[in-house]
Amino acid sequence: MAASSSASTPSSSHLLSQRLLAIRARMDAAARAAGRDPASVTLTAVSKTQPPEAIDAALATGLRVFGENRVQEAQGRWTDRRPDIPDLELRLIGPLQSNKAVEAVALFDVIETLDREKLIGALAAAQDKLGRRPRVLVQVNTGEEPQKAGVWPRDADALIVSARAAGLLIEGVMAIPPADEEPILHFALLAKIAARNDLSILSMGMSNDYEAAIRLGATHVRLGTALFGERNPSVAPSSI
Ligand SMILES: *Cc1c(COP(=O)(O)O)cnc(C)c1O
Repeated sequence: MAASSSASTPSSSHLLSQRLLAIRARMDAAARAAGRDPASVTLTAVSKTQPPEAIDAALATGLRVFGENRVQEAQGRWTDRRPDIPDLELRLIGPLQSNKAVEAVALFDVIETLDREKLIGALAAAQDKLGRRPRVLVQVNTGEEPQKAGVWPRDADALIVSARAAGLLIEGVMAIPPADEEPILHFALLAKIAARNDLSILSMGMSNDYEAAIRLGATHVRLGTALFGERNPSVAPSSI
């Protein structure tokens, strides 16, 4: 343990690399147990509400794929950093309002939260305007929770067809299972929707259930707490 030359208390960056090592070990084990290549699963670091030191620490460990909930907050965190990190990948994982579509298309490489017809038109118009075509996932509300974003499972296929027809680059699906239910059935449902629509990307699994998600085919797990520790509770996430 002679890694750090600095203070006697562990730095936040040391903590973060320790957590990352443990997470990667668990991700790899879950993938292998399911007969999958560990390299087929990407860790999306959910950086919402994190202070600049935590972002710098995450970048220093080599993490390059980040998930953000809000367009404006993400602009503040990433616009200045982005030019120095050519291989950065930013993913929008929170609800998107149609009137923020242009800003979202300008900033994000992947938009994971397409969930309604109106947003298809706004994203298509933003693509035309900016000449930029982010990859898009359709968010499915697998638990049919009225307060939560996402298209209902029975409407997902039609939304995918219509998004493709409008010129969006649909590459997968995303879900946030109900907090109080066993997530496995939700992951399985999402995987089924992806398969029947010929989609290869499955964004599912968070800090509490990512190993189960990987066993059921997740290609992207979205980890906040497990990686960064508890978020500042005064900045509430908007979607859960
Ligand atoms: C905040 C958030 C996460 C990360 O949640 P943790 O439980 O902290 O890992 C993942 N996905 C979405 C959509 C989120 O809003």
